[in-house]
Amino acid sequence: MSKLDWLTQEIDDLKEQGLYNNIRTIGSAQGARIIVDGKDVLNFCSNNYLGLANHPKLVEAAKESTKKYGVGPAAVRSIAGTTDLHVQLEQRLAKFKGAEDVITFQSGFTANLGTISALVGKEDVIFSDRLNHASIIDGCRLSGAKIVAYEHNDPFALEDAIKEHASNFRRALIITDGVFSMDGDIAPLPALVEVAKKYDILFMVDDAHGEGVLGKGGRGIVDHFGLHGKVDIEVGTMSKAFGVVGGIVAGDKVIIEWLRQRGRPFLFSSAVTAPDAAACLAAVDLLEESTELVDKLWDNAKYFKEEMKKLGFDTGVSETPITPVMLGEAPLAQQFSRELFEEGVFAMAIGFPTVAKGKARIRVMISASHDRDDLGQGLEAFAKVGKKLGVIS
Ligand SMILES: *Cc1c(COP(=O)(O)O)cnc(C)c1O
Repeated sequence: MSKLDWLTQEIDDLKEQGLYNNIRTIGSAQGARIIVDGKDVLNFCSNNYLGLANHPKLVEAAKESTKKYGVGPAAVRSIAGTTDLHVQLEQRLAKFKGAEDVITFQSGFTANLGTISALVGKEDVIFSDRLNHASIIDGCRLSGAKIVAYEHNDPFALEDAIKEHASNFRRALIITDGVFSMDGDIAPLPALVEVAKKYDILFMVDDAHGEGVLGKGGRGIVDHFGLHGKVDIEVGTMSKAFGVVGGIVAGDKVIIEWLRQRGRPFLFSSAVTAPDAAACLAAVDLLEESTELVDKLWDNAKYFKEEMKKLGFDTGVSETPITPVMLGEAPLAQQFSRELFEEGVFAMAIGFPTVAKGKARIRVMISASHDRDDLGQGLEAFAKVGKKLGVIS
């Protein structure tokens, strides 16, 4: 017996249940096609919605900034790690999003951890959508506040929870994902904001999958619903549609000012690098110049989903370019993914605990970098594997 035996056992169990993560190695830049484990395949996995991760303008901006600033920030931002690029990026993002102010973090994950734990504590209560992202859940736990999960996307359930619990606590915070990353459905923000307003409770949305996707030219979920000034905190990420890395918190001036004082990942962990910030600035330039990429993304997504439905696949409740292909049991989803890979298509199986047991799926991520030939190849592979495994007839 060794003290590590339990780990070997746990890992074996994961493998048996089809829940073991086989992490593939990428040998190229992100794009419609990538090299995965040495094989050239169609990329249906990445969150690179707009194809910006390898866009010449972003690459050039990163290169140029490296010449001036080098590669590392060398300190946390509150000490010596905030360059004029970081400041510029925050100002440009605030303008782009129509928010009073913006603070950036290293990632969407740390943005959630830092923001939630700075705004509520153990005397407070958080009302959190039952399907919120792991980084929200961890941020809520870290805050020490009481967590009340309400039924997914249900403003009435939220109101019931508030009526039952809010008066027992000092302050409250409502948090929801904007776009739910596994199903691709959109939170009913106007109704949720109404409830928040009625009870005068802080309202926060995590728009990681809506940033660069929803709203005019990718301005995000607040813009999509025309709720400027009505959402207290809008978290986002630059690791998805923006194609780079970094978390965004947009909102009321005083909230952002507080996060500069008390956002722990901001205070105790180094910032994104200058080339990251420069590339993000180039992404904002592109999005402000034209809606072409965002339009193409939606056009591709609509086409692919319609064709998948015609083939007989269940694409769930998605309203966004996230296209889940519902398969049920995890081993089937894993086998489906392996067979797709044999057909030259890289699309990952997703199972518990990322989604509920029995709701395993392949999640297809459509991008503006795909052209119709790419989507055609993907559809053909899905049809072939789907028939072979008896998912469609
Ligand atoms: C991806 C994601 C994050 C994390 O963003 P990173 O920038 O990759 O850390 C946070 N919240 C949601 C809803 C996400 O989908």
